[in-house]
Amino acid sequence: LNRRLAEFGTTIFAEMSALALSTKSINLGQGFPDTDGPEEIREAAVRALRDGLGNQYPPGPGVPELRTAVAAHQQRRYGLRHDPDTEVLVTAGATEAIAATLLALVEPGDEVIALEPYYDSYAACIAMAGGRRVPVTLRPQHGENAGFRLDLDELRDAVTDRTRLLLINTPHNPTGTVLTPDELRAIADLAVERDLLVVTDEVYEHLVFDDAEHLPLATFPGMRERTVTIGSAGKTFSFTGWKVGWVTAAPELVAAVRSAKQFLTYVSSGPFQYAVAEALALPDTYFEALRADLRAKRDLLASGLAEAGFEVFRPAGTYFITTDIRPLGESDGFAFCRALPERAGVVAIPNAVFYDHRETGAPFVRFAFCKRTEVLEEAVRRLKASA
Ligand code: PMP
Ligand code: GLN
Repeated sequence: LNRRLAEFGTTIFAEMSALALSTKSINLGQGFPDTDGPEEIREAAVRALRDGLGNQYPPGPGVPELRTAVAAHQQRRYGLRHDPDTEVLVTAGATEAIAATLLALVEPGDEVIALEPYYDSYAACIAMAGGRRVPVTLRPQHGENAGFRLDLDELRDAVTDRTRLLLINTPHNPTGTVLTPDELRAIADLAVERDLLVVTDEVYEHLVFDDAEHLPLATFPGMRERTVTIGSAGKTFSFTGWKVGWVTAAPELVAAVRSAKQFLTYVSSGPFQYAVAEALALPDTYFEALRADLRAKRDLLASGLAEAGFEVFRPAGTYFITTDIRPLGESDGFAFCRALPERAGVVAIPNAVFYDHRETGAPFVRFAFCKRTEVLEEAVRRLKASA
């Protein structure tokens, strides 16, 4: 293994899902739903397979039906117009979109600013591109409005002459933070002022609760031309195994990302692209029902974790809850998560893996709530019993 990748080892998600299987624990670690997406969309995939749609190499940029559906979705939800031929690229999940974007845009030695804690593939992809990651840490706020917030001065101070791009993620995994319009505006102003590209991972765009609203960075002044927006069918339609994602951006940025993508996978998952095109056209009631279902599950798990003694940072978005384990008399999230299956029959993720500043992330542990209600109830019972 080369030096760029040596530090990364096996992803925490593989490690913890294996532990869940071997200990027969409830897996609230890796973020995947335990019920599949809409029946009619599964049927659409079967139809595509049967009718020979996409069984051979689909077009490099993605099938026209899906590119058109992605553009229509961005227009309908956010008023963002994209040319499906030059401004949309289909990828093998958001994971490939992240990799191809960073490989295409980062020169060796370039600095990439990422919000810390960051989704684990960001660090590995920045490294593969030869870039240098510069984490800007989201700070925990305790009490009534507990949550992790961006310090805009820290962000501004992190920009140097070597900064190539800002890698933003909202709604944010693992903290559940949804950046506010004011924060997004400040990020946009900074990007314009310092002439930076922005890559924004918005795979949880539909998973926002209560008063929170997801606003794409590309909608802010000066951002449309300098922003690469990443989306995925995995989260929105509960098909994480299909690996269909996409990039929307200005033509020259999409062309750059495509240059890298063509040598990573060339193309991906033909029949599923047709099915996801249909999914993106589902009526608003689908998206509202998804949100309502997850909001109820968030509330169930959040109050259960609080009753079990955790400090809970109630998420405004995503399907993750970050907790602080210090009220339980614990301080090392790694040790806690490795012991939890034995102790309680539950698996969670230590947030420290998402930090360069490991000690800052040490007391935080993430639980996923994209699970059936009875599974969450049983997990809560077990956590309370073991507390
Ligand atoms: N970005 C974030 C923030 C994620 O949480 C995930 C999924 N865990 C991905 C990207 C990857 O998405 P996909 O499964 O579509 O590759
Ligand atoms: N995005 C999911 C999570 O954060 C897992 C993705 C993966 O396993 N690579 O849990």
